[in-house]
Amino acid sequence: MASLTSLTLKGALDGLEAGDFTSVELTRAHIEAVEAARGLNAFLFETPERALAMAAASDARRALGAGRPLDGIPLGIKDLFCTEGVPTTAASKILEPFVPHYESTVTSQLWRDGAVMLGKLNLDEFAMGSSNETSAYGPVINPWRKSGSNQALTPGGSSGGSAAAVAADLCLGATATDTGGSIRQPAAFTGTVGIKPTYGRCSRWGTVAFASSLDQAGPIAKTVEDAAILLTSMSGHDPKDSTSLDVPVPDFAAFVGKSVKGLRIGIPKEYRVDNMPAEIEKLWADGIAWLKEAGCEIVEISLPHTKYALPAYYIVAPAEASSNLARYDGMRYGLRAEGANLTEVYENTRAEGFGDEVKRRILIGTYVLSAGYYDAYYLKALKVRRRIAEDFDSAWEKCDAILTPTAPSAAFGLGENSNDPIAMYLNDVFTVTTNLAGLPGLSLPAGLDANGLPLGLQIIGKPLDEGTVFSVAGAMEKAAGFTAKATKWW
Ligand code: GLN
Repeated sequence: MASLTSLTLKGALDGLEAGDFTSVELTRAHIEAVEAARGLNAFLFETPERALAMAAASDARRALGAGRPLDGIPLGIKDLFCTEGVPTTAASKILEPFVPHYESTVTSQLWRDGAVMLGKLNLDEFAMGSSNETSAYGPVINPWRKSGSNQALTPGGSSGGSAAAVAADLCLGATATDTGGSIRQPAAFTGTVGIKPTYGRCSRWGTVAFASSLDQAGPIAKTVEDAAILLTSMSGHDPKDSTSLDVPVPDFAAFVGKSVKGLRIGIPKEYRVDNMPAEIEKLWADGIAWLKEAGCEIVEISLPHTKYALPAYYIVAPAEASSNLARYDGMRYGLRAEGANLTEVYENTRAEGFGDEVKRRILIGTYVLSAGYYDAYYLKALKVRRRIAEDFDSAWEKCDAILTPTAPSAAFGLGENSNDPIAMYLNDVFTVTTNLAGLPGLSLPAGLDANGLPLGLQIIGKPLDEGTVFSVAGAMEKAAGFTAKATKWW
């Protein structure tokens, strides 16, 4: 039998069901993998005792014939989700001694369904970044390396810990969040599958807020089917989040493997950006060919406001962040730096507690919301956001799903973009549009570049039509036949 950590989530569920191994055995194998992979810096906190207790409880349930949808499956949790009794830092010094006394809705649903928590995963500070380098606890290292090179590469961000942990077989799946691409770009950089569902599918309650009108939770997994299984558990209405949608949650896994014959796939001409590597162009063309072969009709579409998406995102997201992060004042959570008076306590706490990128976002956000600039920047960005959503509305008259590259490059080296915020922000050029429009977007691995690094393609769907996204992704996964894994060096 293959090693327990190389199983897919679905394969592990089947093995548990068949009695081939227990959740305690499965969990132990993953705990050992986590301990052996500390060099990747993917986990901020390991919770092995809790994991083994959860696994034992799962085995007991199964023995009684009362297995749940994720019973006994070891998962990693992005450290942006509050976990009761387990530190939650958002990878920021400002939250450092914070131990939540409540559980986020998304994680509570995973535990309700029987999953096992291995620990908390590293991320960019407050999920702001595309390379994991803004984490106060050091960057995550991508398990993938260029062939013949020892250079440390980024796993992408902000869910870099989630993506690296899944790619290195440290867990069978992970939670992640996506405000502008933080599930999909790391998935593309690590050869994993990630989906950001429709805004409102997953509750935001108990997830540390970055930009509330854009933030969505979703899974990173080894396969399209695994991502579908996880998303089904993570989704659902929650009265504690006023933007959570009160709609039924389909069994997303049932859409994987469904025929895509007759579906119309839109190819937006505006996603052909300058200086895009020829390999990504080629990958996109391959994706189109695979879907044609599967019986899809390919239609050219236009999303004319695409070029304004990134600037609009980098106004809206910091604006909301500056407001959301006002709560970290040294009074209620985490760090408190002393000062001669209240104002100084605020100032010292925030100066010491926040990292540079977070400070940059707070400054930009405060600026664009201030009197005199509000109309010129924030209001204008909101109008652009509306236009972008309307572009998609018109596109849906012509197509059922949209195919694009996920990111404009493969994983880059640590330090390569960290001194150039604009170069870093360009990573999000293909992903921010779906956040601005609230649409589902999935990234799946579709091939390797000349250096042997994975590249991803993105499928964008209509609101609440994750089902079609999963069907298209399933067909592409089959056609791509992507089986490459990072060679173990850690
Ligand atoms: N990279 C983007 C940013 O830095 C997106 C982050 C995210 O989706 N959380 O804002």
